[in-house]
Amino acid sequence: MRASLARVLDVALPQLCATCREPVDGAGLCPACWSQLCFIAPPYCERLGTPFPFDSGPGMLSMEAIADPPAYHRARAAVRYDDISSKLVHALKYGDRLDLAPTMGRWMANAGRELLADADAIVPVPLHWRRQWMRRFNQSALLAEIIAKARGRMVAHGALKRVKATPHQVGLGKSERAENVQGGFPGAR
Ligand SMILES: [Zn+2]
Repeated sequence: MRASLARVLDVALPQLCATCREPVDGAGLCPACWSQLCFIAPPYCERLGTPFPFDSGPGMLSMEAIADPPAYHRARAAVRYDDISSKLVHALKYGDRLDLAPTMGRWMANAGRELLADADAIVPVPLHWRRQWMRRFNQSALLAEIIAKARGRMVAHGALKRVKATPHQVGLGKSERAENVQGGFPGAR
């Protein structure tokens, strides 16, 4: 019933580009928005995954990683966070655009290839139960499933539990984000 309703809606309403809302063939982004996405490729900081303008050899760290080492060992990102990619994230999280998850998950699986090869499990960041109830799904768990399938890893759903409902992260800077999730997970600093 749900599937046939979705098909009817697909016929009635053409799929729109997730960022500029122009009609597109199939799912996702129109060619113009797609061409503006900035995929992150080597060379990048071994620790933060932030791109370098030129290659200075393997294992190089950025000044930021040296001056202010993060709590994690290594991080990777698929695309630069800009106008286009932030709209994609927003569409997945708040716009019911679950059709974007397979594509975005594949980008993440590629960007994190090296890290995922060493990983025992993928742990999605949980939502507070109230937010999950309102949003009906956890986009992080959805992406984790796609990444795990692409790289032959397991997903440890439930390995983390969010005990505090934290305000939305949208529009917050790096330090405000860190502040915002303080106390959200037991054992977190
Ligand atoms: Zn577009």
